[in-house]
Parts: sequence; C-alpha cells; structure tokens
Amino acid sequence: MNAVFPGSFDPITSGHMDVLTRAVKIFDHVTVTVMHNARKQGRHLFTLDERLEILRQATAHFGNVSVDSFGGLLVDYMARQPGGVILRGLRAVSDYEYELQIAHLNRQIGDAETVFIMAATRWSFVSSSMVREIASYGGDVSEMVPRASAGALRQKFADVYAEREAAQAGAARSAADQTPTV
Ligand code: ADP
Repeated sequence: MNAVFPGSFDPITSGHMDVLTRAVKIFDHVTVTVMHNARKQGRHLFTLDERLEILRQATAHFGNVSVDSFGGLLVDYMARQPGGVILRGLRAVSDYEYELQIAHLNRQIGDAETVFIMAATRWSFVSSSMVREIASYGGDVSEMVPRASAGALRQKFADVYAEREAAQAGAARSAADQTPTV
C-alpha cells in the first residue's frame, strides 16, 4: 500500500523524519507532498522549491520515499493515487482534535482514509514553527532537524548566526582573560 504524507514541511523536522522512518517499514511507498497555496506563498520561510530540495536531501537515503508538491485540495491529489492512504503524524492530544476533524472531512468529501503514526515522545515538542523561531535568533537546532534543514536554516539566517557566534567567542575570550593564572 502507498501512503501520502502531506504537510507544509517548512522545513522538515526530526519529528517528521521519525514518522517517515516508521512509515517506510509499513508502506510499500511513501510520497512526501508539500501542499502549497499560491495565496499563502509569503507566509512560509522557505519557498516551495527550497522545501522540495531540503526534502529530497533529507529523504534520499530511503529507498521507497519520493517527494512531490500539490496546490489544491488533498482529496483531489489522493484521487490520482487510487488505493493510497493519507499519512499524518501525531505529537500530542492537541494534534488529535484538529487531525480528527480533517480526517473526517477528507473521508466525507473524497472518501480518503487517514492513517496516523505517533512520533517518539522525544520529538513531541518539535514543530517547524518552533525550529524557525529558534533559528531566527541563531540558536542551535541541529538536534531537532535533519542535516539538510539545519544547513538551509543556517544559510537563511547566516547574519544572525555569524553575529551570535562572534558574541559567544568574545564572551569566551573575556572569560579566559579573567581566569587567574595561579
Ligand atoms: P501542516 O501544516 O499540514 O500541519 P506540517 O509540516 O506542520 O504540516 O506537519 C505535517 C504532519 O506532520 C502533520 O500530520 C503534523 O501533525 C505532523 N508532525 C509535525 N511535527 C511532528 C512531530 N514533531 N512529531 C510527529 N508528527 C509531527
């Protein structure tokens, strides 16, 4: 059976990767699909092309994952993949209420089934928006995202990272200067 993992992936996080790692063992094939809306274009940190490139790099080691994008209703996309199911990840009860509503709607308007996979609890606090927020201040997100996302975030916020690292190096130097030598 094939699964479609739809989302914004702005950018893909370790939580998404955890869901994918579990899904590739269950499904024959998983398509990670960036759902985009031309009207919401400016609301994302990464452009659609950037998100697709990050996803391609982050998922290259899986033998049964492909990357795609779609700008429309998910049920219309699912109609092109007969027999496929929608895959969504769950972090906490807070995700469940929203996801339940969407899953019911997708079944009602498009007869599309949704399968949920829970990520490991260590990722339950990780979201793309939190990662973007931390990176926008030059914080370390390397544990929370795959290497491709970390590199892209570093590039996007290159000035902030350089400034923070210079300040940290300065602080370390002045701490060393104040260390008594005897
Ligand atoms: P969307 O904008 O559709 O919510 P996201 O890229 O934020 O897109 O998420 C895609 C899917 O991955 C959703 O099902 C979401 O609940 C799930 N997800 C996001 N972060 C995590 C995480 N840390 N652990 C498990 N699932 C997650």
